[in-house]
Amino acid sequence: MKRKISIIGGGVAGLSSGIYGQLNGFDTEVFEMHNISGGQCTAWDRKGYRFDFCLHWLVGSSKGVFHDIWKETNVINDQTTIIDHDIHSGIISETGEEFIIYANIDRWEKYLVEMAPEDTQSIKRMCNDMRKAAFFEPLGSVKSFWDLIKTTSSAISMLPFFPLLIKYGKKNCKEYFNELNFRNKQLSYFMNNLFGDRNFSALAFIMMLGWFNQKNAGYLIGGSLPISMSMEERYKSLGGKLTTNKRVTKIIVENNTASGVVLSDGTIVKSDYVISAADGHSTIYDMLEGKYVSKEITNAYESWELFTPLVQVSFGIKAEKKSAYIAQSIIAKGKRIGSTVLENGYSLMNYSFDSTMAPKGKTVIVLRFETPWKNWKDLKDDEYKAEKERIKADAIAILELHYPGILTDIEVVDVATPITNIKYTGVWKGSYEGFMPSPNNISKTLKNTLPGLNNFWLAGQWLFPGGGLPPSVLSGKTAVKHICKKEKKKFVVD
Ligand SMILES: Cc1cc2nc3c(=O)[nH]c(=O)nc-3n(C[C@H](O)[C@H](O)[C@H](O)COP(=O)(O)OP(=O)(O)OC[C@H]3O[C@@H](n4cnc5c(N)ncnc54)[C@H](O)[C@@H]3O)c2cc1C
Repeated sequence: MKRKISIIGGGVAGLSSGIYGQLNGFDTEVFEMHNISGGQCTAWDRKGYRFDFCLHWLVGSSKGVFHDIWKETNVINDQTTIIDHDIHSGIISETGEEFIIYANIDRWEKYLVEMAPEDTQSIKRMCNDMRKAAFFEPLGSVKSFWDLIKTTSSAISMLPFFPLLIKYGKKNCKEYFNELNFRNKQLSYFMNNLFGDRNFSALAFIMMLGWFNQKNAGYLIGGSLPISMSMEERYKSLGGKLTTNKRVTKIIVENNTASGVVLSDGTIVKSDYVISAADGHSTIYDMLEGKYVSKEITNAYESWELFTPLVQVSFGIKAEKKSAYIAQSIIAKGKRIGSTVLENGYSLMNYSFDSTMAPKGKTVIVLRFETPWKNWKDLKDDEYKAEKERIKADAIAILELHYPGILTDIEVVDVATPITNIKYTGVWKGSYEGFMPSPNNISKTLKNTLPGLNNFWLAGQWLFPGGGLPPSVLSGKTAVKHICKKEKKKFVVD
C-alpha cells in the first residue's frame, strides 16, 4: 500500500508538492477550491482576449536551482519560448519625463551616467552591487555526496553575494538610495519613487535587477496559464489526483498528528500526511484553529508588512496598439481611481509582445494599481458593484490619456479587485505575494512545519518574504523531500 498525502491547494506550490509526491511513490490528492488549478498563476479569457494575472518574469528561466525545478515540473520544456526583454520597464514622472530601466546592467549604467555624470561613482557602485547579487542561489538540502559537492560549489560561487547580504540586508530602498546620495535631481527623483514610501528591502531590489542582467528572469510566451496547465498535465501524467471545486475546511489532527482533511461538503479524507499549499493564514488560524503556532509565526503574521493588494483593469482593444515599453510605471501620487487615492502611481502593461494574448490585429492592455485592503474589506454588495463601475470609468479615461483616440476601439473591460483574488484563491487580505520583503524579514524564512504537529508540512509563498513562483514551487519539492526523509526513502526527481 502506498502512503497517502493530502495536498491542500492547487496553486503552483500544491501542484509541485503533487508532482514530487508522485515521483517519489506516494499516492497524492490535491484539493483545490476553485474549478481550475493554478491559484494566482492564472489568466481568464473574455471574447477571444486572454487577461493574464501573474507572469511578468520567471526567475530561473535559463539556469540554476529554479531552472532545474521548472524542467522537472514541465514548466520549461522543448515547446517553451522564453523572451528576455531589453527594457525592464519605463517610468513616467508626474511631469511626463521618461526614465528607463534596462535589463542589461552595462547598458543601464551607461544610460544613467549619461543622464547624471556627477553621480558616476554612485551609479557604478549600485550597478556593481546588482552584478554581484545575481550570484545568489538557494541551496538545496544535502542528502548525498553529490548534493554536498553541488551545494558546496553553489556556496563558493555565491561568495561575491555574501558581503551584500551583510551590507544591505538591514536596509530598505530609501536608505540605500540615501546612502548612494544621487546629486542629480532627476535621477534622485526616479530612484526614490521606484518603491514609494514602502519599506521595500534594498537587497530584494538589487537581486531582482541582477537576475535580469543574467537573462535568468525571462517571460514565457503564453504567460501564466500555460505554466499552471503544464504542471497539472505533469501531475496527472504521473497518476496524481486533482480534485477541484472542493474547499478544505479543517485539517484532521489525532494525537497531534495530521491524518487527513475535511471538505466543505463534510467529506472526510484520511491520509498519512498533509501538505497545505493554501494561503498560510487560513491554514494556520482556520483549518488548524491556531492551535499550532510558534513565536516566529505569530510575529510574522502580526507584524510583517504585506504586499498591498492590486486592482487589475484589463482591456481588450480591437486594434493593434504598440508601446515603447512592455511595462510602464506612471508616478501619480494623490491621483484617484475609484475611491483609491494612489500612494505612488499605476502601471500599464501592453501585451502586444505575446501574440497568444489577443486575436491577430487586436491588443491586450492591462492597468494595475495598489489599493489598501481597508478600502475593500467591509464593502457591501451594491457598494462593491458601484466601486467597480467607478474604477472602470476612471481606468478608461487613463487609457485614453496614454493612447489618444483608443475609446472607440475598446471592446472589453474587465475589472478584477482584491475581492476577486480572495474569492478564487483565498489569499489573505488580497496580498498577492504574501509578506513584503523588508529589512526585518529579507533574510528570514518561516519553517515549513508547525510546532507540536506531526506529519504536516506547509508549502507556498507565505513561507518566504517576497513570495513569487520560484520559492512556491521549491517549497512543494522541499515538503516532499522532508516526507521522504521521515519515510527513510531516497528522494528522486524523475
Ligand atoms: C499581479 C501579480 C503579478 C505577479 N507576478 C509575478 C511574477 O512576475 N513572477 C513571479 O514569480 N510571481 C509573480 N506573482 C506571484 C505568484 O503568482 C505567487 O507568488 C504564486 O502564484 C503563489 O503560489 P502558491 O501556490 O503559493 O499560492 P496561490 O497561488 O495563492 O495558491 C493557493 C491555492 O490554494 C487554493 N486554496 C486556498 N484555500 C483553500 C482551501 N481551504 N481548500 C482548497 N483549496 C484552497 C487556492 O484556490 C489556490 O489555488 C504575481 C502575482 C500577482 C497577483
